Amino acid sequence: MKEKIRFERHLGTSTFHNPMMGGALDTQEIEVRRDPLTGAQSVFNPRLEDKVAVVFGPSDYALIERLARESEPRCFLCGDKWQHSTPSYPDDVLPGGRMQVGEAILFPNLFPVSQVHAVIRVGTTHYLPLRDFESRMLLEAFQVSVAFAKTVFRTLSGVQFLTINGNYLGPAGASIAHPHFQVLGGDLPFTYLEHVYGRCKEYFQRHGSCYWTDLVEREREIGERFIGQTGPVAWITTFSPQGTNEVLGIFTERTDFLSMDEEDMRQLAEGFSSVLKGYDSMGMSTFNFAVYSGPLGAKDDTFRCYLRVITRQNVYENYRTDDSFIQKLLRNEMVLVRPESLALTMREAGVSRKGL
Ligand SMILES: [Zn+2]
Repeated sequence: MKEKIRFERHLGTSTFHNPMMGGALDTQEIEVRRDPLTGAQSVFNPRLEDKVAVVFGPSDYALIERLARESEPRCFLCGDKWQHSTPSYPDDVLPGGRMQVGEAILFPNLFPVSQVHAVIRVGTTHYLPLRDFESRMLLEAFQVSVAFAKTVFRTLSGVQFLTINGNYLGPAGASIAHPHFQVLGGDLPFTYLEHVYGRCKEYFQRHGSCYWTDLVEREREIGERFIGQTGPVAWITTFSPQGTNEVLGIFTERTDFLSMDEEDMRQLAEGFSSVLKGYDSMGMSTFNFAVYSGPLGAKDDTFRCYLRVITRQNVYENYRTDDSFIQKLLRNEMVLVRPESLALTMREAGVSRKGL
């Protein structure tokens, strides 16, 4: 196993006269990591570790609540306004036009950016701090998303690649505060997934096994990035994250959304809820997430379904974006909290309490 997955570190230094140290010569260490599957780099300078608050200012919860109060009266996801103000699918695509599981309501996006682009209302409360994303409302949202995926796989020809995603609050790209998911996809995989599918196939050809199941096994052996397990989902932090505070929830048995059952979604929701509570305990107020699936119906054994969640810049007045040329143009990610420290925080937040 050791030779299959390599956790590659490239170490370097940078030396200069530091005015904060009376002009003394200062040498700082820089660690560049590579993702074992994609080769994607992330960079960590240990001296930045206690400067997290400079980059990510504290969330201004009073401001968030004021903005939420102001936007609530206009929100089409609050109450039963969705019944009159949201679009609906033709009956041959989705019988009844919309889909509902408990408080989760699914309907088409008014301005789709992929062949399938649905929006899901998550819960009835307009604004929630991350600690209040309870597993019940997340479960309903996953249930309606997966049920929808199973339906459009049958009713829309060519639909093979679907993802379940979410942005929460403005700095993460959300246009409204009200928690919502989005199901996107069609006959073409998204850029990231196309790359990952290719790498997974190469890995399978080289080693005769699935990267994701090997990764979980290896991370479990190493231990420092392994958070825990909720039923069929293994939770880890990534060695070379591609977003701030990145956590993965990996289904070691499921290759696509069509193969997911109730228990899978229940355990996914449990773990996800705990990760969000962990972020809340770190003072974070926003996130992006995606749940990836292999090609629908293909039973592609080179791939496993997984959830990937990251935090984004906190909400406060005059915040600056967390993405700079480093991420957008050089395609590297900055690591401020070491993945090994993040795993500790997540264990303390109780991500593993259900399964181990
Ligand atoms: Zn609302």
